Amino acid sequence: MNHDYLDGNAAAGELSSILAMDVTTAQSQCANCGATKHFAEAHVYMQAPGVVARCAVCEHVLLRFVKARQRAFLDLRGMTCLIFDASQLQEC
Ligand SMILES: [Zn+2]
Repeated sequence: MNHDYLDGNAAAGELSSILAMDVTTAQSQCANCGATKHFAEAHVYMQAPGVVARCAVCEHVLLRFVKARQRAFLDLRGMTCLIFDASQLQEC
């Protein structure tokens, strides 16, 4: 059995430098059509129970964000990746 890993807490410092950034400045790659565009160009629908962002090229769902009671749900599976300008990352 491979025990060459840590739990998710080990990534907290690294991820906080990214998730604290303004996502709209990042580029996102659509998991459906492969288009890479600034997230700010996505089509965002605020009328849903939460926020839904769709690809500007093919309308595939890129992101869903819903707050319900004491919890927040962030679904990023519609994107292959988010690409940030590393010079703007905050060091922890
Ligand atoms: Zn797309």
